[in-house]
Amino acid sequence: MTGVLHAGAVEQVRRLVTEVPGPRSRELAARRAATVSAGVGTTLPVFVERAGGGVVVDVDGNSLIDLGSGIAVVSVGNAAPRVVEAVQQQVAAFTHTCFMVTPYEGYVAVCEALAELTPGTHAKKSALFNSGSEAVENAVKIARHATGRQAVVVFDHAYHGRTNLTMALTAKSMPYKHRFGPFAGEVYRVPMSYPFRDGLSGAEAAARALTQVEVQVGAGNTAAVLVEPVQGEGGFVVPAPGFLRALADWCAAHGVVFIADEIQTGFCRTGDWFACDAEGVVPDLVTTAKGMAGGLPLAAVTGRAEIMDAVHPGGLGGTYGGNPVACAAAVGAIETMRAEDLSGAARRIEAVMLPRLQALAARYPQVGDVRGRGAMLALELVQPGGVEPDPVLAGAIARACHAQGVIVLTAGSYGNVLRFLPPLVIGEDLLTEALDVLDAAFATLLS
Ligand SMILES: *Cc1c(COP(=O)(O)O)cnc(C)c1O
Repeated sequence: MTGVLHAGAVEQVRRLVTEVPGPRSRELAARRAATVSAGVGTTLPVFVERAGGGVVVDVDGNSLIDLGSGIAVVSVGNAAPRVVEAVQQQVAAFTHTCFMVTPYEGYVAVCEALAELTPGTHAKKSALFNSGSEAVENAVKIARHATGRQAVVVFDHAYHGRTNLTMALTAKSMPYKHRFGPFAGEVYRVPMSYPFRDGLSGAEAAARALTQVEVQVGAGNTAAVLVEPVQGEGGFVVPAPGFLRALADWCAAHGVVFIADEIQTGFCRTGDWFACDAEGVVPDLVTTAKGMAGGLPLAAVTGRAEIMDAVHPGGLGGTYGGNPVACAAAVGAIETMRAEDLSGAARRIEAVMLPRLQALAARYPQVGDVRGRGAMLALELVQPGGVEPDPVLAGAIARACHAQGVIVLTAGSYGNVLRFLPPLVIGEDLLTEALDVLDAAFATLLS
């Protein structure tokens, strides 16, 4: 954890100089309320002035510890030096031509990196897009086209985005789908492996899911099985070992495209380049976005060359997909991940955080489960003695952390999961201090 290298002008400390949010943020919140749609939510209404390393500084001068990374995006830190430099050079040279009109090298360089870094040594190709949702939509388009089949299998607690097709793929109604239907067809949901709640082995959970597919959908009708190797918004659910491999093997046996949605887990977050690497699982297609480009909007579908090339020329694309500035940012971000071994940094974050989170579980029966991998860790909060979700406690702990200048997020189908996604470049002192704040929040609320 070498936060200092990334700190730039931002001092790496937690420091509160007003209440949170402060007066300037409250002023901006009033302006916001007048013109920004109420449908766009906010976790913590402090308006940001600058950010870097493991710190976010607000317009009142409060300096907060960031355990959210803008939802797993700024893994390399905010305004990471290599990203800033690459973006500045690109933005001064040209900002857009549309890759489908006149191409440029940055797009190709990103696809080369994706071919090298994503799981498996087979020939791979990629297509670039603007958002994770768009990447997932295109992965489904490609899988349907390549197989000539329509059904897409997804899992309980899945999150794949907010566009029309990806709403259908996402599990949770409130807030993502509520009154936004009708949803796209030929989407089939089956049970996820969720060891804390089902107690099944990976093989048992896979058999449960795949039997349902065979009975209710039919393998021969199935274009794709789409799964997050560690679920994100669904609550950092880590499937039991063997679950992903069993899905991949079944897909291979039945000509079904196995799509890993690595949008939240990818690019060093879980301590490997991709979460599938931990079990040596090789998906046919991988979707990426969030951590890839240091905060600029960029997403990709990467996969087996024969699947990616099955689509007719012109069938994939979009005006901004693979924008040159976003591609430059991705090249700078990936360089940072390599040069600073951010997978190793994620594993060191786990080594610092996990014992502290486990100590909370030992102390408080409300902590039902501690799980996650690398710098993607979570606490699932329940009523003592069982598995009944406690979203009220999760919200209260999160708010207590916010008030003390630590940005934490909640997640989970039941809203009862505290999730931690620090920038991979956060300094160990800051991380420890954030954990002290979390400890104090538990002590205050549960004493
Ligand atoms: C965030 C996320 C998406 C959607 O990405 P957007 O860029 O918000 O459209 C899809 N899948 C997973 C696993 C995600 O975490």
